[in-house]
Amino acid sequence: MRNGIYKKKLDDLLAICRKNLKTVNEDLIRRAFEFSLEAHRHDIRASGDPFFNHPYEVALIVAKEIPLDDVSVVSALLHDVVEDTDYEIKDIREEFGDTIAGIVDGATKITDIFRSHEITQAESYRKMLLSMVNDIRVMLLKFADRLHNMRTLEYLPPEKKIRLSRETLDIYAPFAHRFGLAKIKWELEDLAFKYLEPAAYEDLARTLKSRRRERESYIKKFIIPIEKKLKNDRTAFEIEGRPKHLFSIHNKMQSRHKQLDEVYDLFAVRIILDTENPNDCFTVYGIISSIYLPIPERFKNYISMPKKNGYQSIHATVVGPEGKMVEVQIRTRGMHEIAEKGVAAHWRYKENFSRLDEELENWISWVREIFDRGDEEEPDQQLMESFKLNLYQDEIYVFTPRGELKILPRGSTPVDFAYSVHSNIGNHCLSAKVAGKIVPLNHVLRSGDQVEIITSKNQTPNADWDKYVVTHRAKSHIRRWLKEEHRRSVRSGRDLWEKRTKKHKLSINDDEVIGFAHDFGADDMGEFYEKIHSGLIDADTVIREIEIQKKHPQPESPQRIDGQEGLFNRFLTTARNITGGITVFGNREAFLHSFAKCCNPIPGDEIVGFITKGEGVKIHLKTCPNFARMSESQASRILEVGWPSINGGEYAAAIRISGEDRTGLLNEITQLISGYQNTNIRGVKIDVKDSLFDGSILVNVKNTEHLNRIIEKLKKVRGVSSAQRQAE
Ligand code: MN
Repeated sequence: MRNGIYKKKLDDLLAICRKNLKTVNEDLIRRAFEFSLEAHRHDIRASGDPFFNHPYEVALIVAKEIPLDDVSVVSALLHDVVEDTDYEIKDIREEFGDTIAGIVDGATKITDIFRSHEITQAESYRKMLLSMVNDIRVMLLKFADRLHNMRTLEYLPPEKKIRLSRETLDIYAPFAHRFGLAKIKWELEDLAFKYLEPAAYEDLARTLKSRRRERESYIKKFIIPIEKKLKNDRTAFEIEGRPKHLFSIHNKMQSRHKQLDEVYDLFAVRIILDTENPNDCFTVYGIISSIYLPIPERFKNYISMPKKNGYQSIHATVVGPEGKMVEVQIRTRGMHEIAEKGVAAHWRYKENFSRLDEELENWISWVREIFDRGDEEEPDQQLMESFKLNLYQDEIYVFTPRGELKILPRGSTPVDFAYSVHSNIGNHCLSAKVAGKIVPLNHVLRSGDQVEIITSKNQTPNADWDKYVVTHRAKSHIRRWLKEEHRRSVRSGRDLWEKRTKKHKLSINDDEVIGFAHDFGADDMGEFYEKIHSGLIDADTVIREIEIQKKHPQPESPQRIDGQEGLFNRFLTTARNITGGITVFGNREAFLHSFAKCCNPIPGDEIVGFITKGEGVKIHLKTCPNFARMSESQASRILEVGWPSINGGEYAAAIRISGEDRTGLLNEITQLISGYQNTNIRGVKIDVKDSLFDGSILVNVKNTEHLNRIIEKLKKVRGVSSAQRQAE
């Protein structure tokens, strides 16, 4: 040791390690200390200090604020050796072994990523995450490194201050939050805030300081009766006035456009109990609420339901002296450790680092899953958005039927839940029961819900799902499925088309087909094949049209084509026969027409006609997207059509209804309809599957109000989850 200053530094570090760590290999720390001191001996920091002060301070932060193990402290001492000196990673490996070399290497690589500006942000994340999940200590070391750099940021040039501060806010703080390192997260955010918005920071800091005395004397008054009571009960405790950090106050003021007084609870206290029994927290809450009036809506029990990062505490608000609101947090010493030091506190009691907490392990495997895949299907931007969302999102707690807890982001639906259980359950979820009641798939779940997913192998994801799921997991599974399904249906549509053309001995190339495809509402060959596969375009109809065109350039009276007589088609036919045709410009006229299969209009729907080349007039829904596309450039082929009214001004309308089947339900529904103003039921088609029903009821109604009344009544029937005018 060269001089006394360094001897004292080493002794201080060892003392802190001895106090905070379970086991300390003092010799290892001493060797790392000397190695680092020697390696950095020529380097100076921007502040003018010897460079060695930096790794030393980082090691202190690790030992004090993220106390994990001696290996982390040693890695902190060595973390800049490879980056800033002539030593290489193999020198570290020779001297200190694979584990420490691995951590130092990981930390160095992360630094490298940020050095090169060409690499996209998403790419940096990806690399950082991957090295992080290999050994979590890499990440903890980076937190400590960044914290010390932010503490000493004032010596750097302005543009560097801004860049590092932004990066701290965008990357390091959210991660620290996820790891439960609340104290570090706050300090990082406040430091970044200080450099990004110096004026706002100074202003806020000054105001808060000026009110400190007022706050402290009030808190003193508030806690006197509590202290007395707790002492009588012989509970060992500590009460502290709770500082709030500036960045969060600033954010609240900004987002709510409010003044300091309106957002800042000046009065907040924390009670830490020296006990291992969590029930004592509730006892203390009882004591406090016997002294001050509690506000029940603001009571939060994070003890029975910890946050995802392991945080546990009681949060309560009571009315203190002079009618002022006081926020109170109550927790045990152990919970407090975890609240401030997060994973580090968790792990301190664990034997083995490969055994992480289950929650964190899940989170890390999620990270690995989305980033390791190197997903070429998903744009980086999208990935980043959902990732950032997941870092900050509030959580809800829901349960499986067996009572197993699932933590999901706020806004999650049964589809998110289903995917969180298993991708197969997600891909086939038909509906869900919450607390025994059927809910639609876009129902927003709430904390405490017990969710049961009903699956059907016939059910598969559709594009609508993507709009209401919020988890990355669900989104990427749905997108993947849809893409796969699109490919499959194009392939099978093409096969079908080729078979049919072969059968008709029709030789025709894609260029010729595409012209006809447009008439049938397909933009390109892919869409054409897909529509053939799904039955929206009938291959034989197209072939017939092509044959007609080839033989006779003038359209000739074609055959009316009816599709397969499936249940649904039969229903459509019955429905349409009731009105006996359609009207053109208000008059009932006999003319050749057929109904478009893309939108299946039925009486009551607003319709429009499109004059085709071979099939007379095709009737579409006014809202049909295919119609909109076809008519865009061919306005002269549009024909105004409608439904004739029947029986003295009534018209037919279909109601789509679904829900959970039970005995007598159908009877109840039909009674209800016919009992209301003698409504005439013209047809009923109901499918029941897995105790769920889904179907249509065709009724004669006088007007839309009449129809809406019936729908409202149907919605109130027990078991009916949805009833609406049929539009497809
Ligand atoms: Mn460093």
